Amino acid sequence: MKKTAVFPGSFDPFTIGHEGIVNRALSIFDEIIIAVGANAMKKSFYSVDDRKKMITKVFSGEPRVKVIDYEGLTVDFCRSSGAKFILRGLRTAADFEFERAIAQVNKVMAPEVESVFILTIPEHSHVNSTIIRDIISNGGDASRFVPQAIKLKDYRRDE
Ligand code: ADP
Repeated sequence: MKKTAVFPGSFDPFTIGHEGIVNRALSIFDEIIIAVGANAMKKSFYSVDDRKKMITKVFSGEPRVKVIDYEGLTVDFCRSSGAKFILRGLRTAADFEFERAIAQVNKVMAPEVESVFILTIPEHSHVNSTIIRDIISNGGDASRFVPQAIKLKDYRRDE
């Protein structure tokens, strides 16, 4: 049976940290669905469409990676897409505490879905979408923190 993992997140924007996690997870899973969270209540920096476009560009040569947007519970999205795994990245102890609670709640709601964590490489542990948004907002160059295929100037900030 095909092993599919959902990698959910805001990816606002998608970073080299996210890219590293997906590339490493490709040796574990047959297919990875990068699930871009569309949260109507939360104001985003880049639109869902632009976030999907930038991620699609990064993995244009990798048919095992799909990019889909979703609303609602991640476990419901896993069920509707037939995925039995949720992939998440860990940078710090703070990430771990946050992820632990989410994964344990998800396990209660969907016992058939396993959460799998990959620890980031040290060079990526400081890479953070919030800081990147701050750099961009203040006119700085954030290109070294996003995959080469993403040219941030091609995307309009959703403000
Ligand atoms: P969310 O809004 O759900 O936290 P993010 O887009 O911030 O979504 O992150 C999605 C996933 O990627 C999370 O599991 C997060 O911990 C992980 N992640 C974010 N940045 C990095 C990084 N630099 N290295 C490894 N994993 C990361």
